[in-house]
Amino acid sequence: MGEWKNTADVVIVGGGIMGASTAYYLAKRGQKDVVLLEKDLLAQATTGLSVGGIRQQFSHPANILLSQETLRLFKRFPEEFDTDIGFHQVGYLFLAQEEETWKEFLDNVNLQRSYKVPVEVLNQREIKERWPYLETDDLKGGTFCAEDGYADPYSVAMGLANVARKDGVCIEEKTELTSIQVEGDRIQGVETNKGSISTPVVVNVAGPWSGKVAKMAGVDLPVKPYRRQAFVTTAFKDIPKPIPLILDFDVSFYFREEGPGILMGRSDPDEPSSFSTNVDWNFLTKVTETAVLRAPVLEKAQIRRGWGGLYTISPDNNPIIGPLPGVEGFYCASGFSGHGFQHGPPAGRILSELILDGQTGFDLTPFSYDRFNTMRKIVEKRVV
Ligand SMILES: Cc1cc2nc3c(=O)[nH]c(=O)nc-3n(C[C@H](O)[C@H](O)[C@H](O)COP(=O)(O)OP(=O)(O)OC[C@H]3O[C@@H](n4cnc5c(N)ncnc54)[C@H](O)[C@@H]3O)c2cc1C
Repeated sequence: MGEWKNTADVVIVGGGIMGASTAYYLAKRGQKDVVLLEKDLLAQATTGLSVGGIRQQFSHPANILLSQETLRLFKRFPEEFDTDIGFHQVGYLFLAQEEETWKEFLDNVNLQRSYKVPVEVLNQREIKERWPYLETDDLKGGTFCAEDGYADPYSVAMGLANVARKDGVCIEEKTELTSIQVEGDRIQGVETNKGSISTPVVVNVAGPWSGKVAKMAGVDLPVKPYRRQAFVTTAFKDIPKPIPLILDFDVSFYFREEGPGILMGRSDPDEPSSFSTNVDWNFLTKVTETAVLRAPVLEKAQIRRGWGGLYTISPDNNPIIGPLPGVEGFYCASGFSGHGFQHGPPAGRILSELILDGQTGFDLTPFSYDRFNTMRKIVEKRVV
């Protein structure tokens, strides 16, 4: 263990994908006087529990742009970071059961194509031809983008964190932020279970706990944690590979390949906000019932394990990225719902620019804290 650093230009709170990425981009730009605090171990909270999906099929342009930046990063990741991130471009297939959903999909396709996303529009017959194991009679249609896919979130976060550490960032695991000192309207420092650090800048990337961290500086961050569960089957040979990430949008159900098995999950509209990550085995019945309706062959699958993780959700399903009001030197990136893994790398890059340059070329209007006080709120509809 290195010596305790009691002063830093920047303190990052949280060692998930957001914290790792912010640390990496700060160090890459030459800002090495950075301490990253992680109360547990790096990338083991939400990031390590993520399903790892990356897609360009969003309904808001800003989200498409973030995904495209990550896509470019993932392609060069193995070479640049000397890390295999298990990036599989198997595609994402979105399915619509409801007429209204289908109309929205078609509007989204126009938007996505205007950003050069190679998305295909498929009718029932075309879906059945390409993925014969799917039940399609109740579908209005689907959209497919072959460039979408999934990667291993732990490897991506660790790849970024390892380079940040090599570049001089001090990473303190098992170190919990306990309070933030604010004097007047400026950050002065932080207190942890291991000691204090004097600093003018705190970056709140504490994921589901970011609301609690914001409160330590007297800021009300409108995000809440919600449990999401995922399940993996034993080896399953009855569906030929590659299997895209298939998303039955109207019932929030998805599945994809995971090693020799199948990974599946769905959200529960009745789930209240909580920090619980327990697996509710009764809920598995709902998941498998939905699964069998879409892919009847999954009836033969045996569930091997399941886990719960936390989405961090804002009132419009979009993140809050940037400075927090009323406290100079306080930044955050939080509220990414189910797309924080894929948007973590660019979010860290954007935060590093705001901290080092006082500005960023990325238009943060849809992601600003202020939007909740104005009419600028634009809901991201493609959320599971
Ligand atoms: C089941 C599931 C599936 C998902 N699937 C996808 C997907 O397919 N694609 C996608 O893009 N996203 C997905 N997500 C969402 C994605 O995982 C998250 O948006 C993302 O990982 C958030 O990263 P983070 O760094 O903000 O949070 P975290 O990974 O939770 O990191 C925050 C860290 O802060 C630390 N911390 C908290 N409080 C303190 C404190 N006081 N002091 C010090 N440290 C502290 C925590 O220990 C934690 O390690 C999924 C999430 C879940 C749960």
